Amino acid sequence: MGDSRAHIDQDFIFPPFDDLCMEENGASSTVQPPSDTILQTSDDVSFYVHRTLLDSKSNNNFGGLLVYGVMCALRGARSLYMLEETASVLNIVLHILYGISSRRYCPDIPVISQAFDMLIKYGCPLSTCVLSKSEIFVDLVSHASDPESDPLEMYTLAASKGFEELAVPCSSFALRTPISSIENDAAIAMGAIYLWRLVKLHNERRQTLKRLLLQPPRAHEDTTACDKERRNGVIRAYGLTAGYAALQPTVMVTGDWIGDVFEKMIQNVGCGLCRDDVRSKVQSIIACWANAKRTI
Ligand SMILES: [Zn+2]
Repeated sequence: MGDSRAHIDQDFIFPPFDDLCMEENGASSTVQPPSDTILQTSDDVSFYVHRTLLDSKSNNNFGGLLVYGVMCALRGARSLYMLEETASVLNIVLHILYGISSRRYCPDIPVISQAFDMLIKYGCPLSTCVLSKSEIFVDLVSHASDPESDPLEMYTLAASKGFEELAVPCSSFALRTPISSIENDAAIAMGAIYLWRLVKLHNERRQTLKRLLLQPPRAHEDTTACDKERRNGVIRAYGLTAGYAALQPTVMVTGDWIGDVFEKMIQNVGCGLCRDDVRSKVQSIIACWANAKRTI
């Protein structure tokens, strides 16, 4: 994601000819009639678009523009309307509305955020205009999953726009940030409800992990090599390891991590039957943990 302004030329015609064969929804390309409307941005870039498409995507006549807006000029047979937004933002909005890829412009997060604001302002619900299979949606979730990215950035963006469909998949990556490390600005931006849901998810996962860990492994019957006292020693060692695991921030706790932590303990158990009992218990924990709730 980078400079989204660099490649925008004057007189941008939608949909761009190159994209006619690359529509995201997989629909066969259709030849659009000539544009009948021009949207001119605050930085004087003209976008040639189709009124019927804007109308069909918007539930408020594109912010009232197409009904109450001041038509500034007629350019040929086309109506021209002035917008407050910049070309970099409108460009992303139109790519979303026309269902074509904007990846070549590498829109950065602030521009995407402004594009989402513009969509909302112009009556184009994010949940219906930014579909989960669209490239921009996939890119945003992919960005959230990047271990190098800010874990909260995408969740906060989605939450601040009330974009439930994006907030849900991003919430699992937001778990990388402990609740105690969420800054005030992020908390305010995501709003009380989405903050509460994230806190609830953290707590539910912690309680689930504790519940799974605190139930001890089964104990085998007495053998000549392993009596009750030795088995109790194994249970105590299991309990110490489980307590250590339960105290970790849940973000650190993966199935592999649980397996590694217990394997160190298991290797110090002298009885093969006790080792099997603990290993069986750990495998059960890992299986259940994989199914634990991970999104809001
Ligand atoms: Zn034993």
